[in-house]
Amino acid sequence: MNVTELPTLFAPLPNRISRLYELAYNLWWSWHPEAQALYQAIDPTLWERTGHNPVRFLREVTLAGLEAKSTDPLFLAQYDRVLIEFDLYLSDDQTWFDRAHPERKNQPIAYFSAEFGIHESLPIYSGGLGILSGDHCKEASDLGLPFVGVGFLYPQGYFRQFINSEGTQEALYERLNFAELPAVPARTINGDEVLVSVDLPGRTVHVKVWRFQVGRIPLLLMDTDVAQNAPEDRELSARLYGGDQSLRVAQEIILGIGGVRVLRAMGISPAVWHMNEGHSAFLGLELLRERVGRGESLEHAAAEISKHAVFTTHTPVPAGNDAFPLDLMDRFFSGFWPQLGIDRDTFMNIALQQQSWGATFSMTVLALRLSAYHNGVSELHGAVARQMWQFLWPDRAVDEVPIGHVTNGVHTGTWLAPTMAAMFDAVLGPGWRERLDEPETWTRISAMPDEVLWSVHTGLKHELAKFVRERAWQRQRRLGYHRDDAISGDINPNALLIGFARRFATYKRATLIFRDLPRLKRLLNNPERPMQIIFAGKSHPADEPGKSFIRDVYNMARDPELQGKIFFVEEYDINVGRQLVQSVDVWLNNPRRPLEASGTSGEKASLNGVPNLSVLDGWWREAYNGKNGWAIGREEAYEDLEQQDVDDAESLYSLLETDVIPRFYNRGADALPHEWISVMKEAIRTVAPEFSFRRMLKEYVEKYYVPAMGD
Ligand SMILES: *Cc1c(COP(=O)(O)O)cnc(C)c1O
Repeated sequence: MNVTELPTLFAPLPNRISRLYELAYNLWWSWHPEAQALYQAIDPTLWERTGHNPVRFLREVTLAGLEAKSTDPLFLAQYDRVLIEFDLYLSDDQTWFDRAHPERKNQPIAYFSAEFGIHESLPIYSGGLGILSGDHCKEASDLGLPFVGVGFLYPQGYFRQFINSEGTQEALYERLNFAELPAVPARTINGDEVLVSVDLPGRTVHVKVWRFQVGRIPLLLMDTDVAQNAPEDRELSARLYGGDQSLRVAQEIILGIGGVRVLRAMGISPAVWHMNEGHSAFLGLELLRERVGRGESLEHAAAEISKHAVFTTHTPVPAGNDAFPLDLMDRFFSGFWPQLGIDRDTFMNIALQQQSWGATFSMTVLALRLSAYHNGVSELHGAVARQMWQFLWPDRAVDEVPIGHVTNGVHTGTWLAPTMAAMFDAVLGPGWRERLDEPETWTRISAMPDEVLWSVHTGLKHELAKFVRERAWQRQRRLGYHRDDAISGDINPNALLIGFARRFATYKRATLIFRDLPRLKRLLNNPERPMQIIFAGKSHPADEPGKSFIRDVYNMARDPELQGKIFFVEEYDINVGRQLVQSVDVWLNNPRRPLEASGTSGEKASLNGVPNLSVLDGWWREAYNGKNGWAIGREEAYEDLEQQDVDDAESLYSLLETDVIPRFYNRGADALPHEWISVMKEAIRTVAPEFSFRRMLKEYVEKYYVPAMGD
């Protein structure tokens, strides 16, 4: 993005450091901690108060603070280094994609997602799906893909979470001030602001578009808060996953159909359409409408669209697979099927799925039908998905259902702690970032001195303890101090610390570890070898069972016998997630197998030398090698879910008792836990390359994107 496009809302910056504006407007900073450190160095308190948001920071910072820095040689050296790196990044014309597929540079990949989790200051994500989309954009930029992201800029985003003194989750929706975001209005080729329209029952809804720059790639986020729209339509895109089914259909129409129109208005002609989860699958209907309108037969149009479409399904959990009642579809689409030249039944049949409660129009079915390339997100999930959707290929056996898999990974620059990264620089040698998806890059980890790795890890754990204490104070200030609703914020950095942070969806079984409370209390309160557990995570506001899990954990945290052993950090977001995966000792994940399609938080942890203690589901089933962490339970399919809980809890306790805890406390003469450190190193060595987003995205390129580009 050109500097002259930046909104002129700012006071002029001292010349010497004037490019801080430009830097703020490219989310490149979100995966370059050294860039964030520039703003932080100017005013650390303001940096915290502005939510680590450089644009907001620059609007609020005092000129005096900036002027002081503009003559500070240390700051200037840091500033110059970051900008050199930034310029090199943006001007690189020998990226991986340039070298691997030079003839494909003009074939854009349009990537549609309902949520994008790029940074905590842009709260338009709810969980793993959104984080994955954010990582996808960052890695697409790193690899130099011709790529554009399409989604929503929800003005109220996803909620901020507070837990009241009864332990009930409260959702606070705050209106984002777009002027404080690194966003500019998207423009058409003629330079006009993009404004597209979409028909909803009885009216036309107008959509405007904000453009974010993520390194080299644009991210286009739609917003219906436009003056021409009726008041209720201005609120259509207000919240992520808010409202009822009818609002959901309306949002998905805008995402899929509106999203196609946005790209058309901007003169972008995608060679590949990637639907990240079924939310955006209506895009296929819009592409059909375009082609049928040009005189193609429906069959021919559908075949052509499929050839260029990729669909990734992310979960076997029903709530993650949108399916709408047919009468709802009637309301929204009765004007649409005539445009395809078909009747109602033919239209509904495109995506019909019989559910226990009746016939539905399934977004997953629609996406599967209108894409030639489709995949699950781990090997096991691929198999589960083939089983689930086999009814669409009735003449094929389950293992011949054409749904493959690409196992999810994580974006290294985003999730790796800066101090750990500095150690990798020293141990792996310069250039490791260029080869981070190659296993050989990581073999040198074994040569890293134990005391160095341990001291970096311990440093991070102390930082986390400080952060948690600060959060506990904030909470007490908010609620007023009452003894019985105080949750301790005092982590003992010398005691074993288990971390658990993710969405509180019930299948993730956040409370499994509390099944046998006396047994757990013995472990937590062992004076020689104490253990602590820290939790964080949100439930969807309408998910009552999920919220009751939060209440259970909260009540444990304030149980007098567990004070200082169980912690719950409110306001789960990317910031909290990042601190936890980088800094605890063990990462716990105990979903009800096989419902965790991939999971990624454990990959982030392992990358930081925090070994995984997890059910053999999703990615961990592929990564676990007996030496890089621990496997809870067996690879077994259960009919009896109660029995599964009993068995998994038993396995979890016994692993803690017989291996995890003793290994952590078994110290050498130098007071270091060498056997533990060997697990940390093995976790890094095996997970960092294979479960990186780089490995994952290259796989998407070779398996799906390039073939879908066609000739
Ligand atoms: C990585 C991440 C997730 C995904 O966690 P899982 O354990 O894979 O479910 C969810 N939320 C945030 C904020 C994350 O960073």
